[in-house]
Amino acid sequence: MRWKQKFVKLWQDGDKFDQKREEEERKGLAGWEEDQVGPEHFRIGAKLGQGSFGHVYIVEKLNVKPDGSTVGTGNLYALKILNKKQIMGQNLVKYAKTERDVLTYTSHPFIVGLKFAFQTPEKLFLCLDYAAGGNMSRALHKDRRFAEERARMYLCEILLAIEDLHKRDIIYRDLKPDNIVFDSAGHALLTDFGLAKEAVAGANQAKSFCGSPAYLAPEMLKRSGHGKSIDWYLLGVLLYEMLVGIPPYYSNNKEQLYENI
Ligand code: ADP
Ligand code: MG
Repeated sequence: MRWKQKFVKLWQDGDKFDQKREEEERKGLAGWEEDQVGPEHFRIGAKLGQGSFGHVYIVEKLNVKPDGSTVGTGNLYALKILNKKQIMGQNLVKYAKTERDVLTYTSHPFIVGLKFAFQTPEKLFLCLDYAAGGNMSRALHKDRRFAEERARMYLCEILLAIEDLHKRDIIYRDLKPDNIVFDSAGHALLTDFGLAKEAVAGANQAKSFCGSPAYLAPEMLKRSGHGKSIDWYLLGVLLYEMLVGIPPYYSNNKEQLYENI
């Protein structure tokens, strides 16, 4: 656990990038102690995905030898890189902080594991277990839809992951095929906690409008507040898409789609 606590410290107070802290960061002092991990400890490979605020790359962890040269460890990870300027500019620091926090204290067979979290003056880095099987969106694109048995397995795995989050009063809110990745054994893992919200115990407690068009629950569209049940609604939407190939209520026309929902 030691490294985890240490990396929590590294990225704490994400929403208080005050001048002093930025100065410390520039000097490379903010939370960096003897066994630092930084971008120089990774060899960046192909891009695995791209979202609105960052990119995800496959990386290999490097060991730095005493003479300063590096040697590959063969250990692969998925490195999610967020641009501070972009997220600070759009007041999204709290989302990045939640993503880091939630990933730090969850440990579940169907949730991607966080290995390291670190920052440079410009960027935030989340180093995740690499899921070698690609995301569900790609699988659906390739196979069009899944057989019931296959869909049932993914459904159960994601259900267990959501249940674990709810036990901790976290809602996920961003369930969709893009945010489910497969490990090398073909098991489904939840990734992307960028829209997760902590400390939601009540039914209509959360208010922010967020999600993707075809994966918006009626209460989100009505902006009437939402709670844990939003994840169960979205799990139903996911099951539908796995079996049918497109989400329920689908229309190319956004207004029509919302009307249908
Ligand atoms: P965003 O917040 O930008 O949507 P995500 O966390 O969803 O970013 O990551 C974008 C894409 O990167 C995902 O759809 C998936 O294809 C890929 N990805 C994310 N995490 C992993 C991982 N741990 N292993 C492999 N690929 C991943
Ligand atoms: Mg995503």
